[in-house]
Amino acid sequence: MSLFIGYGSEYLDWQLGASHPTNPERALIATQLLESMLGKDSITYLSPATTVSDRDLLLEVHSAEYVSEVLDAGVSNEWAGKSVLLGKTALSMFSGTVRLVEAMDLGNAVIAFNPQGAKHHAMYDYSSGFCVFNDMAWAAKHFAFQGKRVMYIDWDAHHGDGVEELLLDTDIVTCSIHQGGIFPGTGNESMPELGAYNWALKSGAGAGEFMSAMLDIKKLASVIKPDVVLLATGADAHVSDPLSSLEFEVDDYVNAARVVSEIANTYAGGRVLIGGAGGYQPHTFTPRVWADVVSEIYSLSVS
Ligand SMILES: [Zn+2]
Repeated sequence: MSLFIGYGSEYLDWQLGASHPTNPERALIATQLLESMLGKDSITYLSPATTVSDRDLLLEVHSAEYVSEVLDAGVSNEWAGKSVLLGKTALSMFSGTVRLVEAMDLGNAVIAFNPQGAKHHAMYDYSSGFCVFNDMAWAAKHFAFQGKRVMYIDWDAHHGDGVEELLLDTDIVTCSIHQGGIFPGTGNESMPELGAYNWALKSGAGAGEFMSAMLDIKKLASVIKPDVVLLATGADAHVSDPLSSLEFEVDDYVNAARVVSEIANTYAGGRVLIGGAGGYQPHTFTPRVWADVVSEIYSLSVS
């Protein structure tokens, strides 16, 4: 079965200035790496072109006022002034995940990757941390509505606060491995009674701490037995990433990907929806980490 990727050139319209860390070329390069690793024939691309109903889907995780502010007025915390194009581009990133979820619903896709997905800081009525629309919270709710048990795993260097908050009143379990004490400052403790688990690592934490948290997650998965796994594979905990002082290496991410694959293959029929989340080495390690993680999960898939 193909690896499904949500990608289109509209992602490159996310231009926030030469010095802004979220250079969208990282997404393009990740797809090129995956093509060279797996072969073009193994990949099915889905266009993130927005459909009329995608705007309504936003209302499942955001307020109508906020959606209108971004899409109609072109206003967001993430950029200065007004830009309807940036709002539209943020929506295309959300739509990229929606198209992949539709393909998973149909049984066409088992492993699906949106390099511009997992906008995990986006909140109900405001943008935060380079994230405008919370695609993963939407996807998790969508699968849960179908009666599926959902497990969300996030190893971006920053706490997945938006996803956690948007899913607190659901049965969906969220797991976030991140550096404590940096943006957004939350996620220092777990709230098991609310299904929110956090591993706030100290500056300098590396392979050992990462794998230890993943083994905790594996244990948790044996209780939850998820029908689908959602993964935010942020690459900003990489040792040379400028936005954190965690020290993960590419191989550590691959080892963690194996744990995700094991969870997905054991309980979820291999089903994993992956979003890129953060990563601020756009021409080097960010696309490398994303491609290696996705390729590993795809290659180990039982489907
Ligand atoms: Zn991050």
